[in-house]
Amino acid sequence: MPVLSKSTFKGGVHVPDMKALSSGSAIEVMPAPERVFISVQQHIGKPAVPVVSEGDAVKKGQLIASQDGFISANVYSSVSGEVEAVKKLATNAGMQTFIVVKNDFKDEEVLLDEIDDSDGAAIAKRVGEAGIVGLGGAGFPTFVKITPKEKIDVLLINAAECEPYLTCDHRVLIEYTEQFVEGARLASKALGGAKIFVGVEDNKPDVIEKLSSFDDLNVVPLKKKYPQGGEKQLIFAVTGRKVGIGKLPASTGVCVLNVQTARAIYKAIKERRPLYERVMTVTGKGVKTPKNLLVANGTPYTEILAFCGGMTDDAIKAVAGGPMMGKVLPFVNGYAKKTDSGLLILTDKEANVREPSACINCSRCAKACPMKLMPMYIDLFTLEQKYERAGEYGAMNCIECGACAYVCPAKRDLVGSIQYCKKKLREISAQGGK
Ligand code: SF4
Ligand code: SF4
Repeated sequence: MPVLSKSTFKGGVHVPDMKALSSGSAIEVMPAPERVFISVQQHIGKPAVPVVSEGDAVKKGQLIASQDGFISANVYSSVSGEVEAVKKLATNAGMQTFIVVKNDFKDEEVLLDEIDDSDGAAIAKRVGEAGIVGLGGAGFPTFVKITPKEKIDVLLINAAECEPYLTCDHRVLIEYTEQFVEGARLASKALGGAKIFVGVEDNKPDVIEKLSSFDDLNVVPLKKKYPQGGEKQLIFAVTGRKVGIGKLPASTGVCVLNVQTARAIYKAIKERRPLYERVMTVTGKGVKTPKNLLVANGTPYTEILAFCGGMTDDAIKAVAGGPMMGKVLPFVNGYAKKTDSGLLILTDKEANVREPSACINCSRCAKACPMKLMPMYIDLFTLEQKYERAGEYGAMNCIECGACAYVCPAKRDLVGSIQYCKKKLREISAQGGK
């Protein structure tokens, strides 16, 4: 149905999108590896609690770690086989508990119970049970999002995929279109019949054309600009509503879900399969054959890279996620998780690694900031350990999009500095302001 007029937000940056490296690669199913290493902390909130022990036989789709409290998520096995260990391993986010399952390659599967998919409350309950979290990278438990106290009249699907290099959502929209649309309809039902909007950057005309054939979708083309997919920027661009400082999207009657989150809802309800795999983009000029891959949760990054032909000789930097908001990996030693939209391998030239120098007060960072912050002052006061002063400049409102660091001619680590400041401010707040 309606394709609405082109929209955007104030601020932001124009970044080469680099999507051509992988946008034409159809989704390939990567065979599950011999062993999967599944973390119990793949979401915002409390880690899940293992419910299996060493030596247990498990099936694909079997619960192996149970949600602990309201903000948490269930974790399921992505293969059938035997639990080889439940142990702590070092990750870039610190020590985490992993459940290691040795694949027996029998692919025996257990399905969730059937539910009444005309019942919104039953859909929402199933979303929680299936361990679905925000697959755009944030990992917030989706059950919490689709059961807000506020009345929601807009379900906004974030199909902007504004991070350079990433193309997995694009491919899902083109190749799994019906599953995506059905998932969005189910989410809308859980939200009491919210109207469905889909925000798509205009560098994906094939998606805009394909989705516009569905009568119940309102497709909104968005100007290609980073961070167009930031929640607040997207809501403003599509609905004109402004999310207040410190407020959640629900306060404006909007629920924002990622493309693959919608597809995961389809899988959990129509196929009765919980979340144990996702489509991710493996790309960058440092990877020999960039691909979009359907990957079993817990697959080692090293095996994913090997499946893509390995790394080039001039590969220098690895990132989990996109180049703007992803996490730099000191070593390529992680394991695929629910929130991994990409695995990026950059060459020396692409990474453009340079030592930071002193701020030259050019104010480019402030002009680029979509939250209208002054990153140079937050950085300055953080370096001087004056965190509360930095807080007065809105450090806590930073969405960590990286637009400021991208434009900074002095290559200052503005995001790292602001993240550190936010951590210190949280500590100060927990200590009662002292
Ligand atoms: S200060 Fe935060 S919100 Fe503003 S551009 Fe930098 S990272 Fe993005
Ligand atoms: S862009 Fe960099 S050099 Fe310019 S004001 Fe901001 S921090 Fe300073």
